[in-house]
Amino acid sequence: MEKVIIIRYSEIHLKGKNRGYFERVFTINIEKALKGLKHEVHRQSGRYLVENFDESKTDEIVSRLEKVFGIHSMSVALKVETRMDLIFSAAEQVCSEKGTFKVETHRADKKFEFNSMQISAEIGGRLLAANKEIKVDVHNPQFIINIDVRENGTTLVFNTFFKGAGGMPVGTSGKGLLLVSGGIDSPVAGYMIAKRGMNIECIHFHSYPYTNMQARDKVIELVKILSEYAGGVKLHIVSVTHIQEEIHKNCNAEYMVTLLRRFMMRISETVAVKCGAQCLITGESLGQVASQTIEGINSSDSVVGNLPVLRPLCGFDKDEIIERSKMIGAFGISIQPYEDCCTVFLPKHPVTKPQMKVILEEESKLNVEALMDEALASEQILNL
Ligand code: ATP
Ligand code: MG
Repeated sequence: MEKVIIIRYSEIHLKGKNRGYFERVFTINIEKALKGLKHEVHRQSGRYLVENFDESKTDEIVSRLEKVFGIHSMSVALKVETRMDLIFSAAEQVCSEKGTFKVETHRADKKFEFNSMQISAEIGGRLLAANKEIKVDVHNPQFIINIDVRENGTTLVFNTFFKGAGGMPVGTSGKGLLLVSGGIDSPVAGYMIAKRGMNIECIHFHSYPYTNMQARDKVIELVKILSEYAGGVKLHIVSVTHIQEEIHKNCNAEYMVTLLRRFMMRISETVAVKCGAQCLITGESLGQVASQTIEGINSSDSVVGNLPVLRPLCGFDKDEIIERSKMIGAFGISIQPYEDCCTVFLPKHPVTKPQMKVILEEESKLNVEALMDEALASEQILNL
């Protein structure tokens, strides 16, 4: 009797002719997640089986797979040769000690001498006879013993389901560049886009020495969390210190954040084009803070020449974002109190409805090209 893990996939099966491609990427992602652990992955009519692993590592394998997008659900199962006595011993092992249950059988192997009803009845009867603490309830059972008679002479027996991360396999929806601050929102935005199958790289802007090294380390930790889901992420780190100093020195203080945002978007687009990303991604949510009004968003977007800007959190409330942040394990890091560059030189009253005429006037006091080149020259790249 061998322990195996059944992986069921979510949307992949919808992809018609592209199915082969989706499955190949999915397989690579599963292999990546299990790297360093002994195992074999086999595809078997509409599902995958992880086999031949060290049984003491079962929990670790399941928890790694819980971060692989494209997985709908998983079950830890016992695999036996298709024989009634062996199926019964497996059922006995996965059966809870007490409570109500039913047996559900799926029989792909039509040559097996019993049909699914007969198997369920036989195994259910034997389980009842062996344990007085359990009772059958076909309508509302507390647990279900699942028996899956495969075509290859083996049967899988299980009673638990683990929910998978859902979504699509990362790598099947192109690549985007995520603007990641140390805050709560942007890591969640990255998670949501990776969940739709997009590969991501990240860019972070700092104002060292106005912001400190802990702020940078915090971002690195957040990107590491993302990379557990997105399968390895590159982080571009760019200094905007001089840009902020120049805005502070020359421009209307109320436009600090607006002008800085425009620089961030321009620099991000240049980096995105260089690394082959097809869009920018931000953690903005409409109306959440002064700079996230539709006027603010418009002002940022208008400097991006050719790429779409995705804002997956646009319609989310803060508490919905926090809930997701906790779920992915980022929240505890995001709330560490280190300053983001946007809070350096922050005016008392940042403009909420920036006017394009004023923006352009203020910007004309700066040497935008030279400041961008200087910032881009500061770029460092980390592989996380
Ligand atoms: P977050 O929680 O992601 O920091 P926020 O609610 O604090 O978002 P802002 O600070 O206005 O909002 O930032 C809006 C978005 O701009 C962020 O989600 C992020 O995508 C981008 N951004 C802000 N600061 C930086 C930074 N230092 N480096 C890279 N991107 C940034
Ligand atoms: Mg922020």
